[in-house]
Amino acid sequence: MSKSIDKILADLRRRVSSVSADQLWNQRQEVVIVDCRESEEVDMGMIEGAMWIPKGKIDLMAEREISDKSTSIVVYCASGVRSLLVVENLERLGFGSVSQLTGGIEAWKAAGYDLCQPSSYRLNRRRFKSQLILQEVGEKGQRKLAESSVLIIGCGGIGSPVALYLAAAGVGRLGLVDGDFVDESNLQRQILHGTDRISMSKVESSIMTLRNLNPEVVYERHPYRLTEKNVVEMISNYDVIVDGCDNFQTRYLVNRACVASGKVNISGSVLGFQGQVASYGVPGGACFECIYPEPPQGDLATNCAEGGVLGSVVGIIGTTVATEVLKRLLGLGNDSTEFLASFDAIEGRWDYLRLKRSKLCGCNSSFKRAGFKKELNQVCDLES
Ligand SMILES: [Zn+2]
Repeated sequence: MSKSIDKILADLRRRVSSVSADQLWNQRQEVVIVDCRESEEVDMGMIEGAMWIPKGKIDLMAEREISDKSTSIVVYCASGVRSLLVVENLERLGFGSVSQLTGGIEAWKAAGYDLCQPSSYRLNRRRFKSQLILQEVGEKGQRKLAESSVLIIGCGGIGSPVALYLAAAGVGRLGLVDGDFVDESNLQRQILHGTDRISMSKVESSIMTLRNLNPEVVYERHPYRLTEKNVVEMISNYDVIVDGCDNFQTRYLVNRACVASGKVNISGSVLGFQGQVASYGVPGGACFECIYPEPPQGDLATNCAEGGVLGSVVGIIGTTVATEVLKRLLGLGNDSTEFLASFDAIEGRWDYLRLKRSKLCGCNSSFKRAGFKKELNQVCDLES
């Protein structure tokens, strides 16, 4: 069996036309480059401008993605074996000018050429059909989403719908922060996880679910708690921050780090039948600490596990946060009318409170941003 595969590959090597990394670099503007690797490999980086068609989907996707069969195509894989089979497959489909990159992406790297992050170069038209036909999204918006990154703090009740909808919408890179493990009592509202994931790291469980939903997103693992030591650096790597954490200590920490880094922090919180959504830190707008200069006491300070919550209400708030994130990434809506939206499920109504920056808050001009950053370590003394 293996002998015949070796023979097939040897035959293909003789027959299939090949280009070197240097040759591909020189003709990269004139040819269509096809990356035929699996999604986990593509996550590690790909050749800029390449089209991603995994080997198993060539029959399904090639004719749809490359309509002109006389197009010059160069296929690459990791080391130049799978691409031989893909070239043969494309020839069988009637493509007339197909070559492979000798030695695959390994040879490309060895020749000193760079790789790029994959998300910005893919546009899966079938997957995003319903978004692409929206005038407010379209191809331009979809590419914007693919080039965007969001850090989701907390893979719990709020983080679940946020991560699911952002992955489904095609946000290119999602960072997931949570140091916790899945407990059976989480499953009533934390819909990223399942019964078979009990005791698993929430970040790992989340990525399993999200990868199944949309394997084309890059998922980044941060399976630990945020501290004043890691928060600023972590936040600086993402366009928008989602605060879906379950305690005030982390909320203050995230807020101050977002103010210090100039990032918008879209926050969702729920207790019982009530929830709130707000975008903090928009240019000229309020930060979390402007609105909550002190951590709330009593009932308001409790988290879902202690205070009780209806899972579907968490879903409404998380889904609203996801929508606010997508609007921000797409440049929809208006920063000058930022509201804190609060939802009462029993009353079945939303109320809106206009957010105003507090003159007394450290995010204001009375403090320099750098000074606010230096104070980060102090917030850990706050009670959660
Ligand atoms: Zn403030």
